Amino acid sequence: MKRLANFVDGKSSDAGDSAYSELIDPVTSEAFATAPSSDAATVDAAMRAADAAFDRWRTTTPAERQLLLLGLADALQERLPELRAAELQQTGSRAAGNEIGLAGDQLRFFAGAARTLGGLGAGEYVAGHTSYVRREPIGVCAQLAPWNYPMMMAAMKSAPALAAGNTVVLKPAETTPATALLFAEIAAEFLPPGVLNVICGGPETGRLMAAHPVPAAVSLTGSIATGVDVATTAAAGLKRTQLELGGKTPVVVFADADLDEVVQGIVTGALSNAGQDCTAASRVLVAAEVHDELLARLEAAVAAVRPGSPDDEGALYGPLNNAAQLERVSSFLETLPDHARIVTGGARVGTSGYFFAPTVVAGVRGDDRISTEEIFGPVITVQPFTSEAEAVRLANSVVHGLASSVWTTDHATALRLTARLDFGVVWVNTHLIFPTEMPHGGFKQSGHGKDLSVFGLEEYTRIKHVTQRYG
Ligand code: NAD
Repeated sequence: MKRLANFVDGKSSDAGDSAYSELIDPVTSEAFATAPSSDAATVDAAMRAADAAFDRWRTTTPAERQLLLLGLADALQERLPELRAAELQQTGSRAAGNEIGLAGDQLRFFAGAARTLGGLGAGEYVAGHTSYVRREPIGVCAQLAPWNYPMMMAAMKSAPALAAGNTVVLKPAETTPATALLFAEIAAEFLPPGVLNVICGGPETGRLMAAHPVPAAVSLTGSIATGVDVATTAAAGLKRTQLELGGKTPVVVFADADLDEVVQGIVTGALSNAGQDCTAASRVLVAAEVHDELLARLEAAVAAVRPGSPDDEGALYGPLNNAAQLERVSSFLETLPDHARIVTGGARVGTSGYFFAPTVVAGVRGDDRISTEEIFGPVITVQPFTSEAEAVRLANSVVHGLASSVWTTDHATALRLTARLDFGVVWVNTHLIFPTEMPHGGFKQSGHGKDLSVFGLEEYTRIKHVTQRYG
């Protein structure tokens, strides 16, 4: 069986006696490779390599870094078939495979954006003194990524950090390290050794990274529970954190909405990538007047789609990523309260792989577990509201604040809702649209800090005030 290796200081490095864990193909439930569970010595070696590389990397100009990152983006495109095959094997998901193109777009965006960093104008704010700010890289950044779009997450996290002049130690999720390792190997043709290091492992390796004295910042995309743990660990060293955590996305449908568009938006927004998207259109709140009609249409549309392997052209989405996730998604359906009912789906599909049927649940209440916790599976709940105020209250009632969508043909309703929804993203009459130029990040327990956009770039800079006396 193929044995994957960490990529540290510009080369693949065998983890020696470190434990290895099996990687499972979620389409077949069979192991296809092993990857290291990196220990403290490996984490230390990666951090030291990144630290040593930082001294020189920070002195490169934004234009020099831009050229290198543009070269890397082109190389990803050239190696697309290989990257896509690796992504499909570890995720079983065409949606994840298709995200590889976005990784290149993100690299290109940040490559150029780092040449346009903003700040205050230099000036004589005190007589005889000139004051200005410098925007500088922070240092070594520890980055922890999830398994839902492994390659895109590796680029989304590392591109702004590298473009701003930082060095990186990135840990992909323990079930999906293959494409991040390939990314590091391809990047080594462009970046000096130690600038981008990728090490494998699970929560324990992540904790060692967050606790290590070298990194100045820790960035996580993951669950809320992990976010709390990472923030707590990082707090001991007062490290800067950027946390992109889970969501519980409301889809607020008013009676005047175009229900055909709504159904299409929900089916795509909730079921793509088997619902393993932090902004999945999973929590439908609908005006009571059109509740029954929307539910009937949704039932028909959802029952007409099915999961399948990446080469199954008729399948809308692939498997859940791992056995634990299959168990977690199933548990929501197995513990439904009596007042809720499964309208369609509700169970695993087949006996090999981790496929789950597209599912609609009606009759839920705001405080049910299925209405308050992130499911991260192909499950949609539907709940009526009787007034705009109730819609806003229900939408904002969760601890999450990542993304939301509003569906209405009334412009004033849309404007009021965009102002009142406590979510870092509000879509109007659409869902799952992510321009690289726009910030992505949550409020409340969905975390803090932004990915993408110039705001994402600024996360990886520090601001220094300089005042010089003259005359
Ligand atoms: P996870 O939180 O289990 O793991 C994320 C990463 O953190 C992995 O690399 C994991 O090994 C590591 N990790 C886990 N526990 C850790 C700990 N205690 N200390 C340090 N590192 C630790 O998340 P997941 O299951 O891989 O991904 C699904 C979650 O990610 C969902 O909650 C989803 O909403 C979230 N997510 C959020 C966004 C966003 O932009 N906000 C995007 C994608 C996914």
